[in-house]
Amino acid sequence: MQGLSKYVDMALKLGAVEAVLAPVEKLVIDYRFYLKCRFGCPNWNKYWTCPSAPGFPAPWEFENIIRSYSIFLAIHTLCEEDNQKISFEIEESAFKDGFLLAFSISGCSILCNRDCTYPDSPCRYPQRARPTPSAVCIDVYKTAKLLSMNFEFGKPDWYSYVLLL
Ligand code: SF4
Repeated sequence: MQGLSKYVDMALKLGAVEAVLAPVEKLVIDYRFYLKCRFGCPNWNKYWTCPSAPGFPAPWEFENIIRSYSIFLAIHTLCEEDNQKISFEIEESAFKDGFLLAFSISGCSILCNRDCTYPDSPCRYPQRARPTPSAVCIDVYKTAKLLSMNFEFGKPDWYSYVLLL
């Protein structure tokens, strides 16, 4: 994990309040979040990057993909916009460093000012569109606790993850 610590430094420099590298076993996934997406989420059927979109992998399929990685970076910010931006930047940087499968789980709503083209026309930024943590059933709260990161309900805590290798 040593060579990857540069991404921790980068996240902090870009404005994250915390950034932690961890083995992927510590990324908590719970399929019950799918119920919360499917029933009651105001964004259901509104984004190409939501589980409602055609071709979006089922949560258990997504978990299999996530578990193919070994290390991820958890990023904590106090602002959604910063969070998505930092994740994208780190993914791009890791890609340039040779981690060709680096992938951020961060959402993409800021790219389109929350006005997704779904379902009328194709995604505006297919190379940058990413799912949110909840869309792939990541338990953000339990993962934060496992990594000794701060998370308080009711506070503006935003989390994203970059799967590195
Ligand atoms: S990048 Fe924009 S158009 Fe594409 S899925 Fe995200 S919000 Fe929708």
